[in-house]
Formats: sequence, structure tokens, C-alpha cells
Amino acid sequence: MESSGSNAEIIAEFKKRRTRQIMAVGPIVLAFIALLSVENNPTGIFGLAPSTILVGAFAVIISVLIFSLLNWRCPSCNKYLGKAINPKFCSKCGVQLG
Ligand SMILES: [Zn+2]
Repeated sequence: MESSGSNAEIIAEFKKRRTRQIMAVGPIVLAFIALLSVENNPTGIFGLAPSTILVGAFAVIISVLIFSLLNWRCPSCNKYLGKAINPKFCSKCGVQLG
């Protein structure tokens, strides 16, 4: 084993974070579908009141945003990676990510 912080470990850790980040899109999509459904179903859907769905959807969106802020960071310098989906290098410290 190489010492911690080697480039291979950074790339492996970044891959894990990217996978988690992609999976986090699922709940966001469901939340937006729920929000759009509420507009078309003012009496609610699945027996849930519109206010319940709104609160739930916003809770999901905020949770995923907070998760992204914590997850989408450079494994080396721990700075936020910004909007790039698949950065090859960290724009802050220049470490290779992929
Ligand atoms: Zn970095």
C-alpha cells in the first residue's frame, strides 16, 4: 500500500464521490416531479395533502443540496469542486482527479 494521499487513492476517492453525486440526482428528480404534480392536482396525490408534498419535496431538495456541498469536494484539498460534472483536475489545488 502506498501512503495515504497518493494520487491513486485520490482518484479512487473522487470516483466514489462522483458516484454518490450522480445517485443524489434521483431524489431531486422525484422531488421536482412531485412539485409539478401538485400544480396539476390541487387536492393532493396519493392521499397526501399538497402542503405535505411541498414540505417533503423541499426537505428532499435542501437535503440533497447540503449533501452535495459536503460530498462534492476535492479529496486532496477538500475545496468545493463547483459545477463541473467530471473535472479531470481540481481547479483549486490542481490534483489529478480522473
Ligand atoms: Zn483540490
